[in-house]
Amino acid sequence: MSHPKSPEPYRYTLAERLYLPLLSGMWVTLRHFVGNLFGRRKSVTIEYPEERRQYSPRFRGHHILTSRPDGSLRCVACFLCATACPAECIHIEAGEHPDVNVEKYPVVYDIDMLRCVFCGYCVDACPEEAIVMSNNYDMAFFNRASSVVTKEELQKPFTYDSSRLGYRPRYPEEEAMRAEARAQLQAGRVDLVGEARRRQEQAAAAR
Ligand code: SF4
Ligand code: SF4
Repeated sequence: MSHPKSPEPYRYTLAERLYLPLLSGMWVTLRHFVGNLFGRRKSVTIEYPEERRQYSPRFRGHHILTSRPDGSLRCVACFLCATACPAECIHIEAGEHPDVNVEKYPVVYDIDMLRCVFCGYCVDACPEEAIVMSNNYDMAFFNRASSVVTKEELQKPFTYDSSRLGYRPRYPEEEAMRAEARAQLQAGRVDLVGEARRRQEQAAAAR
């Protein structure tokens, strides 16, 4: 194979000299613009915040500190979440609880949301299910100080909706689905072997 001895200058084609590839790029943009304007279902974008995406029930959003039925925080200030946190963004100051059965409570419980990496380790580490995560991803801050959310804000995040819980230790809805599937299986209403054979035959026929 021969190698060029000297660099050859690139020769523009006539279409390139007339900027025609640029026009074809603009045509793609125009086609999508008009398509989205009149057939909105093709659009992949949404009109946030009026329109919101449904995220997974395991979405790791704004944290929530859960409460006991009497309204007090379930947190016993054991520091396990702060120890497990890889971003070191949880700050807790413990105080003595008046109830001897509880022992401690968090006088201060802050999370620096700009340092948090939303890994969920704090939820996993908590022995009291005192911290869970929500589906709330509305986290815009006007200054650095307001990104450090306090115990009061964590207990009731400003857009908190109990039907939009995110990452947490238990998923009662999934457990109910599994129990239903097990009941169907035990009642003989589901034929797993027959279903596997049917799919195998379908796959073979499709080949
Ligand atoms: S989600 Fe992860 S980074 Fe954020 S506070 Fe919990 S442990 Fe720390
Ligand atoms: S949130 Fe859970 S892990 Fe963290 S200090 Fe409170 S009880 Fe302990």
